[in-house]
Amino acid sequence: MTTHTLKHTAELLATGKTSAVELATAYLAKIEASQPTLNAFITIDRDKTLAMARDADALRAAGHAGALTGVPMVHKDIFCAEGWRTTCGSKMLDNFVSPYDAGVVERCKAAGLVTLGRANMDEFAMGSSNENSAYGPVKNPWDLTAVPGGSSGGSAAVVAARLAPVATATDTGGSIRQPAGFCGVTGLKPTYGIVSRYGMVAYASSLDQGGPIAQTAEDCALMLNVMAGFDERDSTSLDVAKEDYSRDLAKPLAGLRIGLPKEYFGAGLASDVAAAIEAALAEYKKLGAEVVEISLPRTELAIPAYYVIAPAEASSNLSRFDGVRYGHRASEYDDLIDMYEKSRAEGFGWETKRRILTGTYVLSHGYYDAYYLKAQKVRRLLAEDFQKGLAQCDVIAAPVAPTTAWTIGAKGDDPVAMYLEDIYTLGVNLAGLPGIAHPVGFGSNGRPVGMQLIGNYFAEAKLCQAAHQFQLATDWHTRAPQEA
Ligand code: GLN
Repeated sequence: MTTHTLKHTAELLATGKTSAVELATAYLAKIEASQPTLNAFITIDRDKTLAMARDADALRAAGHAGALTGVPMVHKDIFCAEGWRTTCGSKMLDNFVSPYDAGVVERCKAAGLVTLGRANMDEFAMGSSNENSAYGPVKNPWDLTAVPGGSSGGSAAVVAARLAPVATATDTGGSIRQPAGFCGVTGLKPTYGIVSRYGMVAYASSLDQGGPIAQTAEDCALMLNVMAGFDERDSTSLDVAKEDYSRDLAKPLAGLRIGLPKEYFGAGLASDVAAAIEAALAEYKKLGAEVVEISLPRTELAIPAYYVIAPAEASSNLSRFDGVRYGHRASEYDDLIDMYEKSRAEGFGWETKRRILTGTYVLSHGYYDAYYLKAQKVRRLLAEDFQKGLAQCDVIAAPVAPTTAWTIGAKGDDPVAMYLEDIYTLGVNLAGLPGIAHPVGFGSNGRPVGMQLIGNYFAEAKLCQAAHQFQLATDWHTRAPQEA
């Protein structure tokens, strides 16, 4: 019962084969048992979960259930949820219990979904391995010595280990797609602006976007139907007509043009990752797709542009954590300035501090033009490259990362080595485009390989359709680690 997809779980509830309380109880037992090994959760709250499950069952008994009422899920610990501790992976917010719901959390509640707990993550969503969490690293369910990816490592591990059918996540520079790839599950990063950022702790506001991680593309479409929608409380929320992202799932792929950016498949891509992607592309061709070579000539500029813009925005966003209003406050200090300094020195981890320093530097008078403004210009050029590429194809296929998941600690003392791992994901965020990552096999070390499809703005339905058709013909998405 605790291994099913979101869709199948909803069917079991609709046909009375299980109840929300039964599901929540079974998942909670599995989650608690997994915690000492996987560490995928920051907070578990049995009473709250069971209360939500009882409410869902009552709604169903009264004949008011929606399609997903009673389905269990997990929230990344970046989404504020009323009455739940919301740490964002940071000691700074260790004692913060949110007084309100994020837009995404409201929508999930309104759909009747039951929260099983709060997924571990890199502090303030900064990282690619989940090793920056103040609550300890998450282990990859496929190999406990490997990272699960980041920053949504907890969300991806939860779905891979079948600790929930679906989890929310966020993607500022790859944090939905890369952990989904590292954990052998499916993750959808939507077009910037279609999922509300209200109540989602801000890292880099012009890049952050929430989305789902699930076993299948079909589940991602169903979950995006819940998560997406205009929210006037988020000034960058797009006021566009509500879509059904699952509307095209059943359509065959005949004639789909898949673009392969030549810059993504050259030196730097591990041969086992390349081989799994080639095999997946052969499968797409069997399904009727045509593969064309395209060029994204300025790909290598994505890393320097992102690692200027994201820290710049982070340094501004994180200035609110001053020990005054909420969050950590040092217990001893001399005066106001000393209180700020000590609170921030104690509350933030090293990677967060590094980014605040970088961000403050690139925004400072004298360096603003040379770094920040330059990076914004590069950002525009990268977006133009994607438009030229997408003029030649319907979707772009790409790896999610140059290698499979690395071993915990392997890049620990070299932040730049970690930044370089983001080469295939950052451009999508800088351009604001949607992308879906899905599993396509395993590397030579037995760790999962993911591939992403990138579409033009608002192409989520097409991305879900393509990945769903691939999943109908293959079984990578059904594989689960032994323990699950
Ligand atoms: N790895 C990237 C970073 O560290 C992306 C993280 C994210 O998408 N939240 O910033």
